[in-house]
Amino acid sequence: MDKNRSIAIDGPAGAGKSTIAKLVAKKIDYIYVDTGAMYRTIALYLMRNNVDENDEVKVAEAIKDIKVSLDYVDETQIVLLNGENVNDFIRTPEVSRITSLIAKYAAVREKLLDLQRNLAVEKKVIMDGRDIGTNVLPNAFLKIYLTASADARANRRYKELVEKNETCDFESIKKDIIARDEQDMNREIAPLKQAEDAVLVDTSDMGIEEVVACLVEIYEKKCAE
Ligand code: C5P
Repeated sequence: MDKNRSIAIDGPAGAGKSTIAKLVAKKIDYIYVDTGAMYRTIALYLMRNNVDENDEVKVAEAIKDIKVSLDYVDETQIVLLNGENVNDFIRTPEVSRITSLIAKYAAVREKLLDLQRNLAVEKKVIMDGRDIGTNVLPNAFLKIYLTASADARANRRYKELVEKNETCDFESIKKDIIARDEQDMNREIAPLKQAEDAVLVDTSDMGIEEVVACLVEIYEKKCAE
């Protein structure tokens, strides 16, 4: 058993993992670690340097000497690319698309694995991603597989974008989400799947507060075992 009582949250794109994990972390006094942001940072680097994301050898070579690290400012995770805070640049649809493509390469995953594992040694973390319960923290104290139907997930993204006054189209958001799921679930290394000992939470018909309360309850029950 994980002596730090780490919590692993995995699930498909847009299931609400980061929103929920952040809120749960606050309630139970954990540090939230967003591993997707680390993969996104590598994708941003490749995009900025015009490296072809379909060329695994070139990608592996290009990322050899870059440094991805995390910092926390006012409890918010900041992801640093060679020391630059890139939080504001990693959430674009183009970065999302490239991220899913390059996340299947061994060199990319190896680059981030130790960083992720070390964080869980140093701190009490709630870490979200795709392979946390299955690969990064196989001995996590608690594993949650958070999912929702593709329609529910696309609908949430759509509403978020509309609130930000960004032009968007529901069908293309849904198509992007499904394409990323396909990439993440069908890759050879560390594919997205529910760990055998993970608790499945389907949030299709649940609100944010309801999901947070549900996870806190699961955690408290586990602590009382
Ligand atoms: O969670 P987020 O949507 O930010 O993740 C972006 C992408 O990073 C995912 O679609 C996936 O391809 C990749 N990823 C991964 N393993 C993780 C976290 C993210 O492969 N642990």
